[in-house]
Amino acid sequence: MRYFYPENVEDIQAIVSEAEHEGLRVRAVGSGHSFSEVAKGRDFLMDMKSLRDAAKYVLPVRSQFQSNHYVLADAGITIHRINRLLDAWGLALENMGAVDFQTISGALMTGTHGTGIKKPAFPDMIRAIRIVGTNSELIHIEPTDGITDPVMHNATESSTLIQDDDTFYSTVLSFGGMGIVYQLVVEVVPKFMIHERRYLQNWSDLKKELENGDFMNMVYAHDFVAFRVNPYKIDGDHLCSISVQKIENAPSGDGRRSWIGKILANREALVEGFINSVNRNPRSTAKRIQTVLKNSKVKSYTDISYNVFYNSGAAVLRYGISSEFAFDAKPENIINVLEFIFKQTEYYEDYADLNHPSHIPVRFVKPSHAYLSSCYNRPTVYIDIPTLYSTIGYMSLLERYQRAMIKMGGIPHWGKINNMLYSNNDFIREQFPMIDTWIRVRHRMDPKGTFLNDFIVLMGLT
Ligand SMILES: Cc1cc2nc3c(=O)[nH]c(=O)nc-3n(C[C@H](O)[C@H](O)[C@H](O)COP(=O)(O)OP(=O)(O)OC[C@H]3O[C@@H](n4cnc5c(N)ncnc54)[C@H](O)[C@@H]3O)c2cc1C
Repeated sequence: MRYFYPENVEDIQAIVSEAEHEGLRVRAVGSGHSFSEVAKGRDFLMDMKSLRDAAKYVLPVRSQFQSNHYVLADAGITIHRINRLLDAWGLALENMGAVDFQTISGALMTGTHGTGIKKPAFPDMIRAIRIVGTNSELIHIEPTDGITDPVMHNATESSTLIQDDDTFYSTVLSFGGMGIVYQLVVEVVPKFMIHERRYLQNWSDLKKELENGDFMNMVYAHDFVAFRVNPYKIDGDHLCSISVQKIENAPSGDGRRSWIGKILANREALVEGFINSVNRNPRSTAKRIQTVLKNSKVKSYTDISYNVFYNSGAAVLRYGISSEFAFDAKPENIINVLEFIFKQTEYYEDYADLNHPSHIPVRFVKPSHAYLSSCYNRPTVYIDIPTLYSTIGYMSLLERYQRAMIKMGGIPHWGKINNMLYSNNDFIREQFPMIDTWIRVRHRMDPKGTFLNDFIVLMGLT
């Protein structure tokens, strides 16, 4: 394997040319944070971190789109950095996941999402994607009615413009399989503040609200709603922590989250201590999760959007690992899946000595246009099953859940542990109605197989 650190588009083109000349495969890696094998490469691997700038994208934009805000970002910029650059320009990402360590192209290529049933995941915030493709050609790809004026583009840009829905909605989530992403045009919004309230509720009451429609009404009435639930029953019920966030035009922030959660998520020694005690005394796990949830209460907290979206810490990067599953956002799915997890948790503890060291997060996302998005064309609920590296049986737990969730129709997140899909290619076929178009586009974009990777092969996407 050879590693490269391109600093500009000419470097990327030279690396692709060399790979093509030698008949090798080439791929890019972002921050390398995917838990799955989606970023694994052989032959040539490019680290994109030196490409980390962004600028406003104005001139070639068609007149009818000029009141919107667009930013041209380099592929290797992290979410953390773009948030700060946008802030200085009075702009912001409309949504993001729970952390900001990812690169923007890495987040895009696996369909990274946050929460908000009317808010987009990463592929749906992107309006154009520039890739170095076959023959080292620089290609600018947009939907059929894309934002760029072709006449102006052809007069000022050297890249080849493709405005075609199938090409765009296939490329925008493609695990690097169409080419090396060089730049992205992101639609952003004016900078905003978010007000957050987090309250505790027992599962039996939340379940009633799911059944009578009150909970989903709240999900649709607020900008960003999510909840976390203790998979263990304590005092006859499962404790839930519900987060309700809405966009607010407050000039400055007030209130705060509990500092205990922040410290826990950022100090590796504390996470290691947690893992040791879970392994030594597995029966204490339930109470530990309960304490974390009780400490998550927030009466009133207002802050700049990206601080409120950020919900984790650096220590989680080292020890956190999970499988996450997408379902149609129907209350009955949420109830069935969570109650299945509750039963399994009891069973695993009693019979298999396996423990969940974490609560179960539940998030909601708007329907996506990206052909391989797990929220393609439907409002989606994501149910995450996080655990910690080196807790006893952590991989066995994730594999058992993958098997069960796939049977229940849950689509695993491309960037999280999803190895059970390798033997369930038929399930992938059934879940993604545009899969044949995606495969056709990939063959057209990559006729020499230079950007093919083992992940695409193992998922049966060839
Ligand atoms: C602590 C933690 C928290 C997380 N929280 C969330 C969350 O809240 N929501 C969520 O949806 N996910 C979450 N994830 C998953 C994470 O967002 C995804 O796995 C994401 O893809 C990682 O981004 P990355 O920059 O590390 O990409 P990598 O893992 O490095 O790469 C991902 C894919 O992108 C491709 N790629 C990267 N750059 C390029 C390029 N320039 N050109 C072509 N292909 C490229 C790679 O080849 C690979 O296929 C979390 C992960 C961690 C570790």
